[in-house]
Amino acid sequence: MKGQMMNVPLTITEIMRHADKVNGDTEVVSVTYDNPRHKYTLNDAFKRTRQLANALQSLGLEKGQRIATFAWNDYRHLELYYAISCSGAVLHTVNPRLFPEQIEYIVNHAEDTVVFFDPVFAPLIEKLQHNFPSVRHYVALCDKAHLPDVNIANLTDYESLIDDQSDEFDWPELAEDDASSLCYTSGTTGHPKGVLYSHRSTVLHSLGSALPDAFSLSIDQTVMPIVPMFHVNGWGLAYSAPMTGTKLVMPGPKMADGVVLSDLINSEGVTMTAGVPVVWLMLLEHLKNNDIQVPTLDRIVVGGSACPELLINEFDELFNVSVHHAWGMTEMSPLGTFNKLKPSLKQQSEKEQMNYKLKQGRIVFGVDMRIEDWQGQEVEWDGHQFGAVKVRGPWIASGYYKQGESVDDNGYFDTGDVASVDPHGYMLITDRSKDVIKSGGEWISSIELENIAVGHPDIKEAAVIGVPHKKWGERPLLIAVTHDVEISAEALLDHFDGKVAKFCIPDAVEFIKELPHTATGKLSKKDLRSKYADYILG
Ligand code: AMP
Repeated sequence: MKGQMMNVPLTITEIMRHADKVNGDTEVVSVTYDNPRHKYTLNDAFKRTRQLANALQSLGLEKGQRIATFAWNDYRHLELYYAISCSGAVLHTVNPRLFPEQIEYIVNHAEDTVVFFDPVFAPLIEKLQHNFPSVRHYVALCDKAHLPDVNIANLTDYESLIDDQSDEFDWPELAEDDASSLCYTSGTTGHPKGVLYSHRSTVLHSLGSALPDAFSLSIDQTVMPIVPMFHVNGWGLAYSAPMTGTKLVMPGPKMADGVVLSDLINSEGVTMTAGVPVVWLMLLEHLKNNDIQVPTLDRIVVGGSACPELLINEFDELFNVSVHHAWGMTEMSPLGTFNKLKPSLKQQSEKEQMNYKLKQGRIVFGVDMRIEDWQGQEVEWDGHQFGAVKVRGPWIASGYYKQGESVDDNGYFDTGDVASVDPHGYMLITDRSKDVIKSGGEWISSIELENIAVGHPDIKEAAVIGVPHKKWGERPLLIAVTHDVEISAEALLDHFDGKVAKFCIPDAVEFIKELPHTATGKLSKKDLRSKYADYILG
């Protein structure tokens, strides 16, 4: 027997309709290329969104077409988010920080027809335009007076594009599984892969991420996303904030500017903000050095990479701001886990509580998770055993754009992360699958060993990789850079005693002058693995 409830499709158009009707006076504050402080309301935003939708029609927009944006977080990008997806087209947010060859690949792979770009990226677009055969129009996100002086074919400024358009628009009826947006994820090998979100996945992710034990959004909150809107929908805040009536504050190109960020927090009454650890380390320094307090700021959500203990401690002690760890990925829209302490854990010692806070958190409703050992058996949530993190849910990719399905036989997606989960449900990432060392049926976390190595006062940087071993399959090799001091391999290995199980202690140490890094500054274990491919242990 079927239920007798209305089958209203879950679309971004419904988020927009609701926000326009109910949260219309909610403020949206932006810093843009052409305005240091732009303010308007959601009603203003959606009025311009309708003008933009008419303008897109005049450019010949068709259902399912991909439209690219190269843009920071601001009100025009917000308008594009809604106008493109709700018109039935696909918003393709491009990360302008990728290598030019990667950008060229993804624009061509997506077959984008229109490119909207922030004027700061004009030189990049000018250089790449001849390699974008599918693109017919370029629009600079500014007014006529600020149009950059570049030689780009079919270039218009955004304000002229929408200026004369009607602010009435009949939004098409869309199916909830229609594609809404596209974001490419760049692995360390191969071409970037496209993750194609749907209206349904976006609406459900907005609902799930807004819950009290996640972003906790509401009409009495003001959120400042420092996660770029070109990276996984800026963690979905461009949807969930209007949906819940949360005031949005967007710093545009000033995301790494401590003066602008602290000023926005204090003048706009920001209560919550979200971003990667490096942003918060910068802001922390700025606040401390300039003796600035941030009384309205209640919490910071940290994700993208592991959150350092110093951030949690100092924001709490010096500024009374709680730091919450979150984990996710492009293929997960992105939210998977969020860290908020259970009341029972608050009874524990400060040190114990910190151990929990440093974990990536508990899965939010909408995401199911399995931890599997290397034979594909599910491991217990005992806080010790770790394995491959696999996820399943309505906002998790089932495959990549123009590629087949990429789920396992149980219908789960392999995240490529390795983690343990404790009996309270808190997940701790211990490695990436490709970096974990597989030794005689056991997994050894390279990250844990690297953290112990850099805990030695003489060690500046360290990497641990698996090298082939006749008996065990693989054994850990520690590659270390010292602070220009002499230290023996034995002394360094003694430092591991009592900190990890005996079988995890590296078999050997190689000292080198410098470790290889990728273009984005990450340790390149791929290079180390090929350098030490023929390494003979013992
Ligand atoms: P991306 O798809 O580019 O957002 O990258 C996702 C990857 O970043 C995840 O698979 C993790 O390896 C890593 N990541 C994200 N959040 C965290 C976190 N809180 N702690 C550690 N690693 C994280």
